Amino acid sequence: MDDCIFCKIVAGEIPAKKLYEDDDVIAFWDISPQAPVHFLVVPKKHIAGPSSVTEKDEQLIGKLIRVGGELARENNVEDGYRIIFNNGAKAGQVVFHVHMHILGGKDKPWPI
Ligand code: 5GP
Ligand code: ZN
Repeated sequence: MDDCIFCKIVAGEIPAKKLYEDDDVIAFWDISPQAPVHFLVVPKKHIAGPSSVTEKDEQLIGKLIRVGGELARENNVEDGYRIIFNNGAKAGQVVFHVHMHILGGKDKPWPI
């Protein structure tokens, strides 16, 4: 989608420090980390946010959790990480392309 920063990362038009990529998802380090380990797992398909997820996206969204868990293990935080999806500006969502934050590497890695 035009003017979506994460679609531009998916398309390779904006650089990102990638951890993982396949046909469905991409994962990259957050540019403004809120914990020692903070990365985003993002579907390549543009979906505006959690409340725009439909039944046909269920498998894709489940995959974010599975891939995120594998990357958490690879980055040595499998014993404690927090998953966050922000929905709506009121909740702090600033990028309107659904994404899953994984935060770890410290106790109770809650950024707010
Ligand atoms: P939100 O607040 O929408 O849930 O989270 C968006 C996240 O994307 C923020 O944590 C922000 O730091 C991150 N972010 C925004 N723009 C970029 C970018 O261009 N590159 C990367 N790697 N992260 C970004
Ligand atoms: Zn997008």
